[in-house]
Amino acid sequence: MALIVKKFGGTSVKDLDRIRAVATRIKATCDEGNQVVVVVSARGGVTNRLVADAKALHPHPDDREMDMLLSIGEQETIALATIALHAIGQPAVSRTGAQAGMITNSAHTKARLIDISGGDILEQLAHGKVVIVAGFQGVNSSGHITTFGRGGSDLSAIALAAALKADVCQIYTDVDGVYTADPRVVPNARKIPELAYEEMLELASMGSKVMQSRAVEFANKNNVPFEVRNSYNNNPGTMVKLDTTLEDVVVRGVACDKNQTKVVVSELPDQPGAASKVFQYLSDTNVNVDMIVQNVGRDGVANLTFTVAADETHIAEKAVNECLAVLGQGEVILADSMAKISVVGIGMRSHSGVASTMFTALAEHGINIQLISTSEIKLSVAVDSEKADEAVRVIHSAFDLDKE
Ligand code: ADP
Ligand code: ASP
Ligand code: MG
Repeated sequence: MALIVKKFGGTSVKDLDRIRAVATRIKATCDEGNQVVVVVSARGGVTNRLVADAKALHPHPDDREMDMLLSIGEQETIALATIALHAIGQPAVSRTGAQAGMITNSAHTKARLIDISGGDILEQLAHGKVVIVAGFQGVNSSGHITTFGRGGSDLSAIALAAALKADVCQIYTDVDGVYTADPRVVPNARKIPELAYEEMLELASMGSKVMQSRAVEFANKNNVPFEVRNSYNNNPGTMVKLDTTLEDVVVRGVACDKNQTKVVVSELPDQPGAASKVFQYLSDTNVNVDMIVQNVGRDGVANLTFTVAADETHIAEKAVNECLAVLGQGEVILADSMAKISVVGIGMRSHSGVASTMFTALAEHGINIQLISTSEIKLSVAVDSEKADEAVRVIHSAFDLDKE
């Protein structure tokens, strides 16, 4: 008998037929003699609709109220999925994040887990019940509902698998696993059978929506192997774990993040400390800055260019303006619709030539590179958003990722 945590994303529970299919799948696992804890997301489209409603009322809705609002999506699914299990004769019970003991800090909309007790999950399992837990949500020490950021049900599943010492953690979605690129953008992308946490983490952080990056970070820190697989079929998925036994591939996959804003700070004083002050103000507001370039100063002024996530643009703009007011000069120019495209692979540590292959492929297709950044196992470029999909396809084929 194994203890299995299964997470079903929004597309896997989007309507009653899908919820019935998921219930049948869960029951089959129970009938094989296993204990099953299920984490579910809001039904496909629900969270987006709730966000749109809030934004129609206010351009920057209050974070605490957003958590209150968005957490209802998952709460609907836990009850429906539990009822669907009852309908086929499988004992089951639902639990909210709070009831499952998912205790977080108070950073509404991006809360961090500080403790996971699991509540009475083990007791319910011992009574022969499936426990269906609301993903994406937790509770702070004062009892206020918090959420883990978009895609946060992945984190709920991996954290529960760790806390309950589950034997298996499966993340069910609408594709067969993690591919060499988003299969919706690159039709000949291939499923990757195994990935190291580090690679999955870079792919997720660089925009591969299939897994939430914070979930992968948690899996990496706590060594929780997991499998990404399709809820629509029984194909084997992608195993994500500490090490892989795959042959030495230099580039494992291509990721794309279309939600980037380019921020240009012009007319900065060209003197030691100016750039550090700008970044100090940005880091005080927890804005994540990426792809930084400072040009050569001329006539005593310099330009600083970087990218931020589109939804953090207004916070970044405010922080930089406050800094410029203190410096007494400088101007902020925002250019949105940027896309960041990254190639990722552990093999990049020991191989050169990745940049030249990537830049040549883009140049041959007339795609202009605006910014570049690198890390040990990743190389990213920023290009115009309209060119993003073409750039991903061109890079994917330049590294022969469509070939066996
Ligand atoms: P869920 O609702 O199950 O959480 P998501 O929509 O969050 O599902 O993630 C699945 C989607 O991620 C896929 O439909 C696919 O379009 C997208 N995706 C992006 N990059 C990749 C990739 N490298 N491999 C697989 N899917 C990817
Ligand atoms: N419902 C949340 C979202 O859409 C969390 C999740 O699906 O993982 O982002
Ligand atoms: Mg998701």
